[in-house]
Amino acid sequence: MDLNAMRFKDKIRIADAGRSACAVLYKNHNTSEWMDKNMEELLGQGKNWYKGNLHMHTTHSDGSVSPQEALKIYKKAGYDFVAMTDHWMQSQCGMWNGMLILSGCEWDAGDMVHTPVYHIIGVGMERKVKLTRSVSLTPQDIIDEIDGAGGLAILAHPAWSLTDPREAMKLTGLAGAEVYNTMSGLPWNGSRADASLYFDLWASWGKMVRCIASDDSHGYSGEQTKSYIMVNADDCTASGLHRSLCDGHFYASQGPRFESVSTDGKTVEVDCSSVKYIVFYSNTVWCKDRIADGSEGHASYTVKDTDKFVRIEIIDGQGRKAWYSPFAVNNECKSDKD
Ligand SMILES: [Zn+2]
Ligand SMILES: [Zn+2]
Repeated sequence: MDLNAMRFKDKIRIADAGRSACAVLYKNHNTSEWMDKNMEELLGQGKNWYKGNLHMHTTHSDGSVSPQEALKIYKKAGYDFVAMTDHWMQSQCGMWNGMLILSGCEWDAGDMVHTPVYHIIGVGMERKVKLTRSVSLTPQDIIDEIDGAGGLAILAHPAWSLTDPREAMKLTGLAGAEVYNTMSGLPWNGSRADASLYFDLWASWGKMVRCIASDDSHGYSGEQTKSYIMVNADDCTASGLHRSLCDGHFYASQGPRFESVSTDGKTVEVDCSSVKYIVFYSNTVWCKDRIADGSEGHASYTVKDTDKFVRIEIIDGQGRKAWYSPFAVNNECKSDKD
């Protein structure tokens, strides 16, 4: 018996698909009565899920495989879209055997000695971004240029870069940051792949930054096709994905699946694939319902009076994670892109 399928029959959304706020009818399993909760679905609804990697390199910069080979690897692994983000080499958008290719590039600022290093990914640009490497180039310059070209800017691997979270918090116009960058982990690097602590610090300071997971594939020696985003969109086009990424209708993953994240401000409900743990992070230091058993693919969290944000991670039996971006609760401020 598929527990997920069974549970979803007990939960009926009655909103029009174009809005994210909706009433949801829940079946109370103790009384078998239907309850109307005014829950806001944060993942989007009634659309399709598309899998993509927004950070990878090829022989056009320091990657070990050709663009053609890289596309073949991701297509074979079932990806719906990718962005080839070679250093300082902007790729064009297009289609490859039914897989969408978004325009992409990775730009950087800082020399690691006198100025901190920032790597910024741009995806979905509609025109060529005009940037020149220079000592005076700032991360905000890069973000503004990407934004001006109609693209989305993502802060790459903040933990690997040892980014000062207070400094990064001043950046405006980021569509997200990498909560996980496969290449920044073992055995390709030290152990700084997971940057989730940054997101909790930013959120506790009032800035909600959206979570992206990417491979940052270079050597294609096991780091490829490991970390990705799942986007809930009308269609797998550059404009469809852009809209959903701006609306926060996506999550980052290494395998586990989110199916629904909803809140009425007092509780947070999560439906997902069967996992070992469902974890609700917030700024409240101690609460007893932070971790839930995820074996049935469902958990609820009661928002505390002291909570400024909630961020959700689900973790399966193999230690693979999925991340849903922090969101404000108790009337704290909203994300940069709202
Ligand atoms: Zn980088
Ligand atoms: Zn990279």
